[in-house]
Amino acid sequence: MRAEIVTTGTELLLGQIDDTNATYLARQLRDLGIDIFFRSTVGDNQERIAQLLELALDRADLVITTGGLGPTVDDVTREAVGQATNRPLVPYPDLLAQIEAFFARFGSKMSDNNRRQALLPQDCIPVENPVGTAPAFIVEDERGTIITLPGVPSEMRYLMKHAIVPYLQRRLGRQEVLVTRILRTVAVGESRIDQALSDLEVSYNPTVGLSAHPGQTDVRIVGKASTEAQAEALVAQFEATVRERLGAAIYATGDATLEGVIAELLRQRGATLAIAETITHGDLTRRLSAHPEVFCGGAVAADGNALARLLSLEDGDYTAQPGAVALAEGIRKAWQASYGLAVASDEDDRAWVAIAGDDGVDTRRLRFQGRDRRARVWTTTLSLEFLRRLLLGLADGWAD
Ligand code: ATP
Repeated sequence: MRAEIVTTGTELLLGQIDDTNATYLARQLRDLGIDIFFRSTVGDNQERIAQLLELALDRADLVITTGGLGPTVDDVTREAVGQATNRPLVPYPDLLAQIEAFFARFGSKMSDNNRRQALLPQDCIPVENPVGTAPAFIVEDERGTIITLPGVPSEMRYLMKHAIVPYLQRRLGRQEVLVTRILRTVAVGESRIDQALSDLEVSYNPTVGLSAHPGQTDVRIVGKASTEAQAEALVAQFEATVRERLGAAIYATGDATLEGVIAELLRQRGATLAIAETITHGDLTRRLSAHPEVFCGGAVAADGNALARLLSLEDGDYTAQPGAVALAEGIRKAWQASYGLAVASDEDDRAWVAIAGDDGVDTRRLRFQGRDRRARVWTTTLSLEFLRRLLLGLADGWAD
């Protein structure tokens, strides 16, 4: 089944709000194994929405729209769907009663324009909306199916979850089960991962897709089969190949965070951590403070010399490698922690990271430079990865 997503709303078109509905719907459809070839946005104009729906019906089996189901004159999606499928709008008395009841629950009276919301294309399948006033509806036309949902994201999501996904599963005659596994990698660029997995990425089942964030790339494997065990086996086979190729760059599966994985490694060793940071502006402290069982505390300052004063270290130069070493030892001592991690910068704003522990201090110069957000995320992530590798005994020979 091929689907197309059509979001309506002039504010979306003009970039005043982000199209989070389209992103959500795309993920839902992908998880159902439905192909999406086009996603479009159109303003609140009946003629243009109808035009777009006709185009979408020509190239897709299923069209899902959001927005324009409210009671006001610029809410014209009902009319546009009627126009594109040659159906007059007719009253649906049950829906009208539901809308009236919705208002009564809040002790208010329905206004006349809300009656418009119960006028839907003839012979459609109305979908009651218990969390709002705009009913959704489905038109099963001979050219394809149009599913029309409200624009308010919470309502749209509710209806997708409770009515539309079950409807689509029934339509797909789905005995198929999908199993998804996300392998989280760190400190390897998306292009290098893409190169390593390019032959897997063209597979139809399971599918393998990448999604990149600064410093991290997720590898998503989705397997489809008639039983969970079969889908799981397909995914497991691909997962083994991906693991063979990416090795220790994979730090976790599922929803785990890098700092969560590090916290667990520290906990297993009965160890604690303290942080002194400059160019990362407190990002390391923030990410680790979700794990107070292993994280003693952090010190944040504009530069290494300020950090040194805070830690009552001797006067000196606290930039670059020697500075990072002294700060790592200083923060470890100040907090009586098992490990002290410090990030200092040289005069070019290049990051030096040092990790002090029982066996001495390990240092590394990171390849990212600067203090903008992207550089900060990279520096933070690579510093954490350096620590993870040290804890696992994998830091030697690691090239980020
Ligand atoms: P209502 O009954 O509230 O009028 P509606 O179905 O007419 O709902 P719209 O008026 O188009 O929906 O949108 C309502 C609000 O939902 C918008 O102001 C916007 O904040 C949000 N919204 C609409 N479409 C999207 C979208 N695609 N992504 C994110 N938010 C959206």
